[in-house]
Amino acid sequence: VPEEVVNFGAGPAKLPPEVLLEVQQELLNYGDTGIGVMEMSHRSSTYDKIHNDTINLFKEILDVPDNYKILFVHGGGRGAFAAVALNLIQKTGEADYLITGTWSNIAAQDAEIFGKVNRVIPPLAKGQNAPDLSDLKLSENASYFYYCANETIEGFELPVVPPITNVPIVCDMSSNILTKKIDVSKYGVVLFCVQKNIGPAGVAVLIVREDLIGSKKPNCPVFLDFSVVSKSNSLLNTPPTFVIYVCGKVLKHVKKVGGIQAMEKLCRIKSEILYNLIDDSDGFFINEVHPTCRSRINVTFRIKGGKEVEDKFLELAQKAGMIQLKGHRSVSGIRASLYNAITVEEVAKLAGLMRLFEGEYS
Ligand code: PMP
Repeated sequence: VPEEVVNFGAGPAKLPPEVLLEVQQELLNYGDTGIGVMEMSHRSSTYDKIHNDTINLFKEILDVPDNYKILFVHGGGRGAFAAVALNLIQKTGEADYLITGTWSNIAAQDAEIFGKVNRVIPPLAKGQNAPDLSDLKLSENASYFYYCANETIEGFELPVVPPITNVPIVCDMSSNILTKKIDVSKYGVVLFCVQKNIGPAGVAVLIVREDLIGSKKPNCPVFLDFSVVSKSNSLLNTPPTFVIYVCGKVLKHVKKVGGIQAMEKLCRIKSEILYNLIDDSDGFFINEVHPTCRSRINVTFRIKGGKEVEDKFLELAQKAGMIQLKGHRSVSGIRASLYNAITVEEVAKLAGLMRLFEGEYS
């Protein structure tokens, strides 16, 4: 193992080392209880405080209005895809989906099990053109409008909220939550899995506007029913207690280092380092995403010469301790994920290697 490992993984991903050290210190004995959080009843007052602290930190950091509930559900991001359809599609039996890449496409397929899904734009070439938001084929009868704010696999981030006013907007922010200020009041539901920017895998968070709670499909499983989850404060059955505890720690850390504003700035600086280098490489490094939709979080690129050259790059990166840079198996190439725990220095290190590589192989 190289001395210093830099983890550019797309999720599960790097977490702040300060937080992990704290977790390590508390692993066997949390707050002088003599046991760790993993071993503690989810009905204990100690856990209850951890649970509510985490919920309140989400509310505070994301500036969540009072008429929204924070729900923790099992099943990760895809669990949340199903939960959204099961709880919202019943009203009309239909929903509109904006497909911009792999994850919104999967969400549409997962929703189709429970109702009619209308795709509001034709497929984007490679999923990477800018969608024309002024020409959406909205249905007359949708219960909600769904989109993904950042397509983790393609490295495609929609810079604006689609101009939808007649139905609630549901947004998957799994990979860009906590990386920029959002106006929760524009949404009916904001959903995200936590294993990218906030904690270990194991829970999905749904921020749900209260009036959307209570119209589930009759066959919705109890543990995904917004109404039941909300009334039980996400404690219907055993939640992933340890995951929620680590999420709380990361949220506290984000607050300490400057909150969303600081994260947003960092995110821009880090992604610009890589995009500037890509654009200055005379076509040696290639980013295929439309310039207005380049992700500030997942920077994807190909290298001139194709797979053989890319494999060489990945091998050298690995040797230098820069790991999990391989693009998703469905799209290949390289993907550097720059979640909040990744530092500017770490990105500069990757940029250094890219420059050296370009010098040698272009
Ligand atoms: N949405 C997005 C944007 C994602 O990146 C992912 C996971 N990579 C998911 C949803 C699915 O999350 P999970 O694996 O927890 O189901």
